[in-house]
Amino acid sequence: MIFTVTFLIWIVERFLASLRQTTGKSPKEDIKGKPTTVFPLMNPETQEAKNPCDMKVTVVGVGQVGMACAFSLITQSVCSELALVDVIKDKLEGEVLDLQHGLAFLKGVKISGSTDYSVTAGSKLCIITAGARQKEGESRLNLVQRNADIFKCIVPQLVKYSPGTCILVVSNPVDILTYVTWKLSGLPSNRVFGSGTNLDTGRLRFLLGEKLNIYPTSCHGWIIGEHGDSSVPVWSSANVAGVPLLSLNPLLGKEEDDDHWYQVHRQVVNSAYDVIRLKGYTSWAIGLSVGTLASSIIRNQRSVFAISTLVQNYHGIENEVFLSLPCILGKDGVSQVIRQNLNNHELHQLQQSAQTLWDVQQGLNLEKK
Ligand code: NAD
Repeated sequence: MIFTVTFLIWIVERFLASLRQTTGKSPKEDIKGKPTTVFPLMNPETQEAKNPCDMKVTVVGVGQVGMACAFSLITQSVCSELALVDVIKDKLEGEVLDLQHGLAFLKGVKISGSTDYSVTAGSKLCIITAGARQKEGESRLNLVQRNADIFKCIVPQLVKYSPGTCILVVSNPVDILTYVTWKLSGLPSNRVFGSGTNLDTGRLRFLLGEKLNIYPTSCHGWIIGEHGDSSVPVWSSANVAGVPLLSLNPLLGKEEDDDHWYQVHRQVVNSAYDVIRLKGYTSWAIGLSVGTLASSIIRNQRSVFAISTLVQNYHGIENEVFLSLPCILGKDGVSQVIRQNLNNHELHQLQQSAQTLWDVQQGLNLEKK
């Protein structure tokens, strides 16, 4: 009996000594805080594996919109690292865990979350969805100062930990909050933009598709200007396969048009109100829209989207306002704005939107608390 015990102890000691010989460390020693099983299983991490990642995306706000964006990003394999931030710790931890439990069904993404912004360090893109949401019947512009105050806590932290980041603003009123973000961040204007009328344009293409019985990606039409009540449908360039709809129906978009195309734009404007009335919030379509924008940045795709950008000196607008125009979106954010040939009516509507937003911006308090 004594012999057997002594023999077993000798075997274990030999095993430990052989491990010490290869590594200089006892297997019981914790390697960088990892459990003792990790070391016998694999080599230490290489230097390369520890390098920061240029496919990291942060989403601030894990509400309905933030989570729809996060889900879209990971299921479309847009980023290899996703960081989530919110002020509600339990909700945040729950959402992070829930997504992490899906890792086995995704293509290589690391997901983390914290109330501390250090978790966002080294992000290529930060998406802000945090803030109060519209109440039933409330206009987007009503939300403005409430959300501007929330942004004073968020934007400086994002820039501190990711000075090279692009910031995509989703929270409403998105055009004014994009202006607020630009001012608070000190970043060049090309790296600060809002999701703008990309969603409105998607809604228009869906409705065109319904009316023509053609899939939305084959219906070409743009909504520019304010994401909201004063958005501008560019009927002058709406087309299918290069055939301008205006050449077939000169009254397109006008109230006297018997085909009632103008109602399609009314439906776009009312879409968010309808969805909010029915389910309390909007989430999936904005999440998909944001996933597509993020993909164009991370993959330097240079696709063109109607997103909110600094429109000073475009289409006769002189003030510092952010409105949606078709923009080329790549790794440095907005590289160019496409010059659309707008007719006088469209130009006038766009300039009126710019004036409305400028007036609201004058009343904003952007002083740090
Ligand atoms: P929500 O209430 O479900 O979520 C908001 C989240 O923000 C909450 O989890 C809250 O804890 C968090 N938050 C609040 N203050 C914060 C702070 N200081 N730091 C970090 N997180 C903070 O709202 P939602 O439905 O997800 O909508 C979010 C925003 O997106 C709203 O402003 C809404 O109007 C806007 N939105 C925009 C579009 C668009 O097309 N641009 C579409 C839909 C919604």
